[in-house]
Amino acid sequence: MNLNVELNSVARRYGRVKAVDGVSFSAAPGEVIALVGHNGAGKTTLIKLMLGLARPTAGSVAVLGQDPAAGDATVRRRLGYLPETVSFNPALTGRETLRFYVRLKGGRRDEEDALLERIGLAHAADRRIGTYSKGMRQRLGLAQAMIGTPAVLLLDEPTTGLDPELRQQFYAIVREMQAVGATVLLSSHALNELEGNASRVVILNDGRKIADGTLDELRHIARLPTRIRLKT
Ligand code: ATP
Repeated sequence: MNLNVELNSVARRYGRVKAVDGVSFSAAPGEVIALVGHNGAGKTTLIKLMLGLARPTAGSVAVLGQDPAAGDATVRRRLGYLPETVSFNPALTGRETLRFYVRLKGGRRDEEDALLERIGLAHAADRRIGTYSKGMRQRLGLAQAMIGTPAVLLLDEPTTGLDPELRQQFYAIVREMQAVGATVLLSSHALNELEGNASRVVILNDGRKIADGTLDELRHIARLPTRIRLKT
């Protein structure tokens, strides 16, 4: 099978701390994989490893068939990333902001307009971001990650702080990316919001993968830590 992301017994230590400890999973085109765990479980470190911003201390990471830390420009261009906290200049409009990122990333001419349409912000394109709601800012962040139609999208806790309706709006766009064949990896604290939105869930605890499966499969696992146990 064609795999966009492959992690093999990956570990990453920071001194004595094992941020990631022997994690393996893979993701094919068109899959949305959620990384779920409490604070400090290792979600951001895994995303950094897939971005090539951190190197594994053991094991291997392949993104689009390459080591992401090797700095291959083709791989970098095909990766989209939404950090946990995005802050845009409130004095710029949505269109100006996206145009800046499209130019920075060498995107298509006028790609910002197509993206604003896609994320449902065309009507607010010329409003200053200072007037945007949190949900609108988060969708703009997603648009920034979608420049160039990446094959792999890495989204770090993209729905934290959004109410349930805004979360579902956000996931609707993620599902569109999935439908065109992107592999999406996103981290989350909340298992219940993933219903219908994630193909598979990887549960992390203290850097280790403790479960991996569809939401239905995970519902039957009793040994999940209570903090992340699924509501049945
Ligand atoms: P959160 O939900 O709080 O973002 P997380 O699941 O993303 O948590 P990580 O940020 O990956 O967790 O951190 C995993 C562990 O590794 C934590 O104990 C953290 O303190 C530690 N850690 C992560 N990055 C570093 C670093 N650069 N230096 C030292 N320790 C680190």
